[in-house]
Amino acid sequence: MSSLENFVQYGRKVIGAGANYHSFVKYTGRSLPTEPEIFLKAPSAYITEGNKIVIPKGFTNVNEEIELGVIIGKKCKHVSEAEAMNYVGGYCTVLDMAAICQIKPNKSWAIAKAFDTACPVSKFIPKEKIPDPNNVDLWLNVNGEQWQKDNTKNLVFNVPQLISYISKYFTLEVGDLILIGTPAGVGAVKKDDVIEAGLKGIVTIKFEVDEE
Ligand code: MG
Repeated sequence: MSSLENFVQYGRKVIGAGANYHSFVKYTGRSLPTEPEIFLKAPSAYITEGNKIVIPKGFTNVNEEIELGVIIGKKCKHVSEAEAMNYVGGYCTVLDMAAICQIKPNKSWAIAKAFDTACPVSKFIPKEKIPDPNNVDLWLNVNGEQWQKDNTKNLVFNVPQLISYISKYFTLEVGDLILIGTPAGVGAVKKDDVIEAGLKGIVTIKFEVDEE
């Protein structure tokens, strides 16, 4: 049993990349980022299956975002793109919950991305189960209806590029999680919605939505 299986208990950072699929950039009408758009989620936002996503009181627009999560297996800083994959210990799939209603002038991105329960994750996926993280099909259904479907080959910045970029600024430690972005199709969820999602042929997750 790899200790990385317990990344939710001891990982100290959750680092996200925004606007990192061509389909998402097009869907949101944004311009293509020229360098990765990085944000943080608090590890206290983790939940595992069997727990509900809880929309905070007064929040009017909380989106789901299916993502591939990359779990760091070896401490590193300033790694090159060529070396980056040596520091990956495994993967998971993640719902990067995002309270769009909090992303406004003078509102905090921290609250939008890191409120309690904003980081539902699957179980740990050993590295060898995903030989090429830049070619993974991912999908997300809400109440049985498909909202998101894409492949990580359509990333703006691929997995080694992101690890290398992030490691310029943050020491990446064992158990840290990197969310590599979400494709088009994100939408607001509400109480009693059931989100099912996964990485095709690798893992599926199911989370129910509740409200405070
Ligand atoms: Mg995201």
